Amino acid sequence: MPNKIDDYFGSWNIDHDLRALAQRDVPHWIGNQKVLDGSEIPLVEPHTGEVVANTFEAGADLVSKAIASAENALAGEWSQLRPLDCQSLMLKLADLIEEHSEQLAFLESVNVGKPIAQAREIDVAASVDVLRHFAGFCTRIEGRTGPLSAYGPGHTGMTVKQPVGVVAVISPWNFPLQTLVWKCAAAFAAGCVVVAKPSEMTPASSYIFAELAAKAGFPAGVLNIVNGTGAITGAALTGDPRIDKITFTGSTATGVLVGQTAVPNMARVTLELGGKSAAIVAADADLDVAVDGVLNGIFFNSGQVCDATSRVVVDEAIHDAFMDRLITAAQDLNVGAGLDPETFMSPLVSQQHRKKVFSYIQAARDDGLSLVVDRGGDSVDETFTGPVIVQDCPQDHPIWREEIFGPVLAVCKAKGLAALLELANDTEYGLGASIYSRNMATILAASKQVKAGTIYVNGHGFLDPAYPFGGLGMSGVGKDLGAEQVESYLETKSLLFSEQSI
Ligand code: NAD
Repeated sequence: MPNKIDDYFGSWNIDHDLRALAQRDVPHWIGNQKVLDGSEIPLVEPHTGEVVANTFEAGADLVSKAIASAENALAGEWSQLRPLDCQSLMLKLADLIEEHSEQLAFLESVNVGKPIAQAREIDVAASVDVLRHFAGFCTRIEGRTGPLSAYGPGHTGMTVKQPVGVVAVISPWNFPLQTLVWKCAAAFAAGCVVVAKPSEMTPASSYIFAELAAKAGFPAGVLNIVNGTGAITGAALTGDPRIDKITFTGSTATGVLVGQTAVPNMARVTLELGGKSAAIVAADADLDVAVDGVLNGIFFNSGQVCDATSRVVVDEAIHDAFMDRLITAAQDLNVGAGLDPETFMSPLVSQQHRKKVFSYIQAARDDGLSLVVDRGGDSVDETFTGPVIVQDCPQDHPIWREEIFGPVLAVCKAKGLAALLELANDTEYGLGASIYSRNMATILAASKQVKAGTIYVNGHGFLDPAYPFGGLGMSGVGKDLGAEQVESYLETKSLLFSEQSI
């Protein structure tokens, strides 16, 4: 008798091999070997709500083995590789990901629920780009030399860079493959080794990434994966004194805990956390460009994006025209099954998350807010959560203040750039922002004053491997991507020379 999963896969003509891949249990990966150990954690496919496979919870002993494996790799073959060989490995891994893009995109859709077209074009394709970009850094790890400033001739200074060491990677469920690849690519280029803990909800693509790294020729122990919950596996990993750096992407609440765990061991930290980013639509904005950017900014990945522009501040002069177009476009967005190639928005990641998002939507309705688009559903048991837009949102309402991590957009209007910026900066977060204007002076003034680490102009979400991404305020510390990320995996030593007996 076919179950809901078989029906779902059947409706989209998913072949036998892909079905088997989705229904494969996800083990740990230590020293280039799979390890089956620990109690089962079910993996639930978001569209059907059915368990497709299991992963397993790594306890402290297994986490310890994974860290030992990474330490051995660091002391062994990995540190002896020529930078050019490291670069070749990374390029080979990028090629293998490209070859396996259909499998990886499918797993991303089945685990996260995300639209298959976006999983192909963004999650997987951008991961390949990131690996190829960072492969170039392997041969460009350089220090500097120069005279000493406080001493006379005969004194020279030099800096040398070394890998930080063993890196703990903790990643969330919204972009499982991409987040892991971002962190590993820069870490590998810097010569580091990794023990990663993916989200317990979405570990499948991370496991394939590790298998492919081994296939590419990465020595055993350079990349290890331990699965499990944050409270058990994550805490064991981040609290271990052998961890030299923790790079975490997730919520601000967990990021604060992880930061506290790092301090007693003086582990270096990068914390990429939550956001409540604003799109600023100035009076001279191109309305079509702004509507398109705002729609993508909040409804892409069903709003489950850290720098989603969940607030829009729009100049009074164009507010009504902008809203007319935005409302029409949001009503037209295609909400459907993740495996449907035509889908723009698909089910949220889990029933628990849907409950959270639905509670915000219901609160907005109960509090009499102006829901000019309300496709949020009548009950938390519905499969889909479509776009919701709240116009003239009060600034003391949770819809305006809190990270919902779903397709809910709060809009406010104001007159002039200064008032728009005041509204945009009315948040403890500082992750992203987008500015819509045709005037360079407006763009530059707004970008200087807006509280955000990444600012898009006339669009949203076009992150680039060459430019750093990271938050201000409660959105975190440190950067992913760009040369800045590679630097964060390096220790700098100073050598101060007196040349008298050389
Ligand atoms: P989360 O904080 O619940 O979990 C993130 C990861 O941390 C998971 O792997 C989880 O198992 C682990 N974890 C939980 N408790 C832990 C602990 N005590 N010690 C170690 N690890 C622990 O976040 P989530 O729900 O998976 O993801 C959504 C959040 O991530 C949102 O707030 C979103 O804004 C944020 N996010 C930020 C970025 C960014 O780049 N700034 C990107 C994506 C997502």
